[in-house]
Amino acid sequence: MSHDAERHILVGHLLAKDGLCTGCRAWWSRLTPYPCWQVDWATSRQPRSMTAALLGGRA
Ligand SMILES: [Zn+2]
Repeated sequence: MSHDAERHILVGHLLAKDGLCTGCRAWWSRLTPYPCWQVDWATSRQPRSMTAALLGGRA
């Protein structure tokens, strides 16, 4: 897996206003609380600074 794959997950799976994951709902019609397991996986593999930048400094 490359960083591209992780970045793709992080930009596709975002926190919706109702607290659910937008990516899981859009792609699989799944109502998954954010962060979903895919975001967990991607963030755990990212350097902390890179993850913080992708999430707008909220991580
Ligand atoms: Zn998701």
